[in-house]
Amino acid sequence: MVHYVYDFADGHRDLAGLLGGKGANLAEMTRLGLPVPPGFTVTTEACRAFLSTGAEPDGLAGEISVHLAALEDAAGRRLGQCDDPLLLSVRSGACFSMPGMMETILDVGLNDDSVAALAKVSGSERFAWDSYRRLVQMFGATVMGVDGALFEGALADLRRARGAADDLGLDAADLAGLVATYKDVIRQETGEDFPQSPREQLRRCVLAVFASWNGERARIYRRREHIPDNLGTAVTVQTMVFGNLGPDSGSGVAFTRDPATGRPGPYGDYLPNAQGEDVVAGIRDTVPLSALAELHPDAYDRLREHMRVLESHYRDLCDIEFTVERGRLWMLQTRVGKRTAEAAFVIAAELVDEGVITAEEALGRVGGEGLARLMFPRFDTSALGAPLAHGLPASPGAATGAAVFDSAEAVRRAAAGEQVVLVREETTPDDLPGMIAAQAVLTGRGGRTSHAAVVARGMGTVCVCGAEEIAVNTGARCFTVGHTVVEEGTVISVDGSEGTVHLGAVPLVDSPVLRYFEAGGRGTGLVDAVARAMEQADSVRALEVRANADTPEDAARARRFGAQGVGLCRTEHMFLGERRALVEAMILARDKAEQGEALDALLPLQREDFAGILAAMDGLPVTIRLLDPPLHEFLPDRTDLAVRVAAAEARGEVPDGHAVDLLGAVNRMHEENPMLGLRGVRLGLVVPGLVAMQVRAIAEAVVERVRAGGRPRAEIMVPLVGAVEELRIERAEVERVLAEVSEESGVPVHCPVGTMIELPRAALTAGRIAGEAEFFSFGTNDLTQTTWGFSRDDVEAAFFSAYLDKGIFTASPFETLDHDGVGRLIRIAVEEGRAARPGLKIGVCGEHGGDPASVRFFHTAGLDYVSCSPFRVPVARLEAGRAALDGEGCDDR
Ligand code: ADP
Ligand code: MG
Ligand code: MG
Repeated sequence: MVHYVYDFADGHRDLAGLLGGKGANLAEMTRLGLPVPPGFTVTTEACRAFLSTGAEPDGLAGEISVHLAALEDAAGRRLGQCDDPLLLSVRSGACFSMPGMMETILDVGLNDDSVAALAKVSGSERFAWDSYRRLVQMFGATVMGVDGALFEGALADLRRARGAADDLGLDAADLAGLVATYKDVIRQETGEDFPQSPREQLRRCVLAVFASWNGERARIYRRREHIPDNLGTAVTVQTMVFGNLGPDSGSGVAFTRDPATGRPGPYGDYLPNAQGEDVVAGIRDTVPLSALAELHPDAYDRLREHMRVLESHYRDLCDIEFTVERGRLWMLQTRVGKRTAEAAFVIAAELVDEGVITAEEALGRVGGEGLARLMFPRFDTSALGAPLAHGLPASPGAATGAAVFDSAEAVRRAAAGEQVVLVREETTPDDLPGMIAAQAVLTGRGGRTSHAAVVARGMGTVCVCGAEEIAVNTGARCFTVGHTVVEEGTVISVDGSEGTVHLGAVPLVDSPVLRYFEAGGRGTGLVDAVARAMEQADSVRALEVRANADTPEDAARARRFGAQGVGLCRTEHMFLGERRALVEAMILARDKAEQGEALDALLPLQREDFAGILAAMDGLPVTIRLLDPPLHEFLPDRTDLAVRVAAAEARGEVPDGHAVDLLGAVNRMHEENPMLGLRGVRLGLVVPGLVAMQVRAIAEAVVERVRAGGRPRAEIMVPLVGAVEELRIERAEVERVLAEVSEESGVPVHCPVGTMIELPRAALTAGRIAGEAEFFSFGTNDLTQTTWGFSRDDVEAAFFSAYLDKGIFTASPFETLDHDGVGRLIRIAVEEGRAARPGLKIGVCGEHGGDPASVRFFHTAGLDYVSCSPFRVPVARLEAGRAALDGEGCDDR
């Protein structure tokens, strides 16, 4: 028999897939003996059954009844009982923490009768009616689908009528009246009455949680985070405890360490006389956790003790939700807490120092994306004037953009290419699309644990929250600070590390982490923590990391960042700029002599470029790719030329001869699909002298470096090979020129000759190609294009977002390697290439070389190295190290 319901006492933390993270951790805390209000969890399996049939699964109601009866027996009270009611909370919780599902419903079991009983038992009429109005409001909005603004509006009207600054200014009679108003709203909006039967309330809450799995916000979030759609959510049903019983009660959130900076020590917010989400909703000002020590020393001491227990049990930063009921502490939630990239590195290093985790485990707790974020520039403090406003530094980084005041506007402007800052009084889950679209989020209210802060941190979006000096006027589409009015569209700068807001676009400077990679040295806790993670990664990784660099400057920077060579040096940029005229001359040459002259002029320039890069990478391999793009890319635009020639003819003039020649050449070379045209090795095979010139430049650069006492290690790479014969012919030419230069110079020049694998045919015939290739390098950009049959430049903007929406892609195949298709070709080529030539050196030089998930794939595919842009080199080093850990403990942050 399937078993749809687990008592807290029967679960544990490893059952998150079945009980959701929340349910599994409540069970774990129960097992640890922490004070958790009793309850039970309905499994994700029940949810999946509901989602596939649309009906309540058979047997679920019965199981719930059994568990409820046990809860009632233990409490000595019945759900909704008329003289002393047991009340429940109904909470959603999937395996992954997932905003966007149904909000928790508190105080389930209250009705027109039990509210009076609650008043009597608690001794507080006000508390009882406050609880009831919360239930009607939450149930009405989330289960019955009434627009929440109608309830908020009624509450605000009442506050205004009573002259109350906040909810505490309303008395029992006010709240009773509000309940009546809310019930009318529900009847008007749904034609139904608020259900009085406690069992009916419970049943509908559970089903509503199931249904919320497919709510729009939940689906958007899952797509963004690549969470599968078929997991389902669990539902936790728990005995209520009350933080709104008066000044001796309250609710709070706590972290065992600061989730923004990683600094050790407890950290959090507390709100007296409050329940549920009050503490994060910004309805009243919270006090720091330390204030709890004075308000309720006993509860505070216990909380500190529980935090110690949890941190040593989970061996990581934990975040905690708790409630104090008449001085008594209750634990309502814990989980391994989200944190900024900075905090992830700092905490990992601290936990190693404290002997809690090993250096290897620490490596599993940091990630390449976070590291990349820490390398982003920050605001130049010397250019910073006085801030316009201050708030809480909720999610670090620096961002500049036009102020916008609602989610739709943020999405609209971002889609048009504008950078925006979403400014809200506070955010709700409905703001999610705008938060995703924005560079930064700024709110006027709410603490570091408010919705805006938590979501922004999770996404790595800059956030300043609770900037109380600003008054946000969404209707008028502006915010004001004193006399300054900031209209929609005004550019502002937001510093999420300092918590400041500035008018205008503040210039940026390098981050300390970037400076560390540039110049070495240690210093702050963060830099030190990053350095330690890098050392650990370097000591365990199997993959080498090289860089894609076309200039000596890039090569030198890449080397400082830890590159172990150049995996891809593209020669095409060497044909641009002032040299264009020489390239034109080569293309337009009427005979061999003219072409020879043009090539001779290019030769010394290329030689110098190569010598510079070989010097910057002295002693390390430099893989130089022969010219790849179609030649017409080096000629002027066809339409411009045609217009120029036609205009001259129309004026009755004789058009400039050079332009006519150029137009002829451009027309001759025009291709409908240049990506699939005369390029790569094909170019070298049909344009005489081109390969010889490039190889000579390389070989002479090697000779020059050897004579200067260097240790040049050039490797020559042939692009776009599809058949081994292409490589055989080209390679013979390369060897001929190398021999020639060795002979002339008296310096023996040996360069390994290899090929890119970037066509499906190359991958599928890799065994034969390996007979001629001394190394392979996967050109995963072209390999992705040719495998899928679409060109990145043409299609990315056209339909990728639709494909992501429809779930055809979980990520762009140009960002993260398509494991199933392109990855399969790679595995075939590795296997057959190495079978034909044992020890064949194999790398990858597409942009995927710097993408964390792709690096893990390349590690498992057995490649020797990845090559990526210089700035991604540290990311690739770190991820290559993480990939070498045996899989476990590698949770992505
Ligand atoms: P979320 O997933 O949004 O964190 P929760 O299920 O944690 O939602 O519920 C939100 C808040 O509701 C909790 O932080 C807590 O303050 C309150 N809450 C939930 N269950 C109870 C309960 N049994 N007693 C009192 N408060 C509760
Ligand atoms: Mg919670
Ligand atoms: Mg290519």
